[in-house]
Amino acid sequence: MTGQRRIIARVLSESVDHPDVEELYRRSAEVDPKISIATVYRTVRLFEEAGLLERLDFGDGRARYEEASDEHHDHLIDVKSGKVIEFQNEAIEDLQRRVARELGYELVGHRLELFGRPISGQTK
Ligand SMILES: [Zn+2]
Repeated sequence: MTGQRRIIARVLSESVDHPDVEELYRRSAEVDPKISIATVYRTVRLFEEAGLLERLDFGDGRARYEEASDEHHDHLIDVKSGKVIEFQNEAIEDLQRRVARELGYELVGHRLELFGRPISGQTK
């Protein structure tokens, strides 16, 4: 792995949010100003193909990324603030496995994004 790729990989793994390519570029360029946005685009595509990275779509037309991990989670997007909440729900996981099985498939993955508006006084 080249030095620039390693920097981008580190920026990604240190990100607790879901940055888009522009944001990744901004953070990477803080570490190494010689990194170009083209390099970030190329590296992100490479990492995605290698399964190191997950591409997410939160409905605003910008691809966002997070480090792939064994710990699966889904996302709820607050449509008012753009805040992204990560959650796990066993009932949803079970249901998806069951739907796949009933259709004759073994579930190997899924992607779920919920879009919500906060109910006043009820969000934490
Ligand atoms: Zn996430």
